[in-house]
Amino acid sequence: MTFVKMNNPPHLELDVSIAKFKVIKNGNSNRKFIWLHGDEKTAKMALEYHIKRYPGTAYLIENDSREINIKNGIIDPNRIFSKAGAKKNLNKYNPYWSRNKKKTVLDSISSARTILFKELFSDQESIVISLHNNYKGYNIRSEINNSDEISIKKNQNPRDFFLCTNENDYNILAKSPFNAVLQKSTPSTDDGSLSWAALGKKTRYINIETRLGWLSVQKKMLKYLEENIP
Ligand SMILES: [Zn+2]
Repeated sequence: MTFVKMNNPPHLELDVSIAKFKVIKNGNSNRKFIWLHGDEKTAKMALEYHIKRYPGTAYLIENDSREINIKNGIIDPNRIFSKAGAKKNLNKYNPYWSRNKKKTVLDSISSARTILFKELFSDQESIVISLHNNYKGYNIRSEINNSDEISIKKNQNPRDFFLCTNENDYNILAKSPFNAVLQKSTPSTDDGSLSWAALGKKTRYINIETRLGWLSVQKKMLKYLEENIP
């Protein structure tokens, strides 16, 4: 196993023009970890800790806020994974842009999407693992309407949960000490998030969602996934 020194890690950089990702590769494995929201620092710390100890490839966005800056406007990087989702999100945040400007930016987003799809989904054996943190409000119950199965544990905080798209993975995670939901059905409206893209590409996807600041919980969930998901 290769250990990566985090103070000056040997890493690659993936430039998709609308954003840059630090890429840390540790040996060979089917795991592809991704951290997308720059303000969710607990998730970043959990991933940097994890990738030093376990094999896989980690993609970390180089950004400090939730949205990325793009041509004096913004977009949510977890809404770029479908054309419709990107368009809707761009309109929401940048309502006064000209039609031409929107088109140019949507074209750059499309190129970025192509590169990221190739990185994350070109190998059918891969499992894409994303890490997010939430603030007040959002919790596992917010996902009930989008989910096929749901497992809520009495002694777990509802804001900490696994969200996965593969039934076998769900059956394992539902038996874990942690909360879990299965989302294996294509939604009626694709919001452009990575989970729906993974579903479309038939690639296994697991999101590890925890409260911001709860680093030990997120590390434990990553470890559980590592030791139990093939
Ligand atoms: Zn997030």
